[in-house]
Amino acid sequence: TYAIEIRDLRKRYDNGFEALKGVSLNVEQGDFFALLGPNGAGKSTTIGILCSLVNKSGGHVAICGVDIDKSFADAKKYLGVVPQEFNFNVFETVFNVVVTQAGFYGIPRQLAEERAEKYLKQLDLWEKRNVQSRMLSGGMKRRLMIARALIHEPKILILDEPTAGVDIELRRSMWEFIKGLNEQGTTIILTTHYLEEAEQLCRNIAIINAGEIVENTSVKALLRTL
Ligand code: ADP
Ligand code: ADP
Repeated sequence: TYAIEIRDLRKRYDNGFEALKGVSLNVEQGDFFALLGPNGAGKSTTIGILCSLVNKSGGHVAICGVDIDKSFADAKKYLGVVPQEFNFNVFETVFNVVVTQAGFYGIPRQLAEERAEKYLKQLDLWEKRNVQSRMLSGGMKRRLMIARALIHEPKILILDEPTAGVDIELRRSMWEFIKGLNEQGTTIILTTHYLEEAEQLCRNIAIINAGEIVENTSVKALLRTL
């Protein structure tokens, strides 16, 4: 089974705008996959539908073989999502932002605390654990979002423009961390509007433009055609 299977996905927003016009994609287990496209192409809409924040207007989505219309509760345990906007409680401490998330997955407190420690250390945030998250820099907030998304050790990690507004040094260390997760078996899907980011990191790539997939290939094959 595919990590993600998307068939003929359509989205028409309430104002009548058609953001997705029949998108189909498969992402293999263990892949490092980029959804590349300019601003407004439909990347965030696609991600929003995968994590049930956006209602689709048509089509089918399966996550690790589970149809999200039949059982999103089952599908969501496979998914970790790092959205573009910071959406944690800014008055919670860094440690609690991560541990609180575990409650949504029924993870026992002690295990949640062990994992929070592990990921905060790996993401170089452990020293900030008792600080309110609103005090963090932009780059630290981004890493906190990643730590939080990993608390249930999902099979698939989806990152929406993970390095937007992140300086080059931090970008490199985030890439290394994400690559390491992929090497340990996590399927990674990221959206980006930088071809460079997609080609350096990813194995397979789909290019979306104006709500349609215009290319879906390996990065190697794509580079041969440029
Ligand atoms: P991105 O940075 O992914 O291109 P946008 O800047 O287009 O995202 O949108 C940011 C937020 O505003 C998103 O949550 C999106 O759903 C919402 N949004 C974008 N365009 C519109 C619109 N035309 N009407 C209402 N909401 C919109
Ligand atoms: P991307 O992430 O590739 O930048 P989005 O998925 O955020 O693109 O947006 C795709 C298109 O849908 C854009 O033209 C955006 O303005 C529009 N859009 C996004 N959210 C809304 C919304 N809530 N209502 C109307 N249009 C929207």
